[in-house]
Amino acid sequence: LPVTDHLLSQRQIIEPRSGTAFLMQAGQTLTVTDLEGEQVSDLMAYRAGDTREHLSSGNSLDFAGTMFLTAGHTLYSSRGNPMLKIVHDEVGRHDFTLAPCSAPMFRLLYGHTEPHRGCHGNLAAALAAYGIGPDEIPTAFNIFMHVAADPATGAITVLPPLSLPGQTIVFRASMDLVIGLTACSAGQSNNFAFKPIGWQIDPPSDH
Ligand SMILES: [Zn+2]
Repeated sequence: LPVTDHLLSQRQIIEPRSGTAFLMQAGQTLTVTDLEGEQVSDLMAYRAGDTREHLSSGNSLDFAGTMFLTAGHTLYSSRGNPMLKIVHDEVGRHDFTLAPCSAPMFRLLYGHTEPHRGCHGNLAAALAAYGIGPDEIPTAFNIFMHVAADPATGAITVLPPLSLPGQTIVFRASMDLVIGLTACSAGQSNNFAFKPIGWQIDPPSDH
């Protein structure tokens, strides 16, 4: 996989309400940083070379036996293969149940008549370069997203993220991947302020 050297160990910035896509090799780590605090970042992953295999919320939550994935847990694919292991997590609360924010979501839940394309549209635009279409974007791993469900009724509440400025989560790739990553565009998810997200790829290490 041609991951160019200049990308290695150099922090990239995702501007507010936007997204990006890039390649990541097995063994490399991806660090996602909440630069200013209380900002969600949607993560999607596909097997490089066969992007029909993608991240699976259902498999990952089932195999981990918990709704709340953190350091030590693995994100699995639609074929049940390990894709990414969470190797470091300074926040400890993320969501893997709700779909990426989207134009239909902004119409339905916010009443916007000219809605933003949201994380879904941003992921679709960035992933198009890898031949991945808008109908091939399932539930993302919603980094730093704070979702609570009432245990009795199941009612969902989206709360401000627990992430503080500069806090990070680190993933190690278990296979060669195409990654999609956003700075989330939904007001409720980000305490009604749209901020940037930092990310960085580092080479494999011994620890
Ligand atoms: Zn979003």
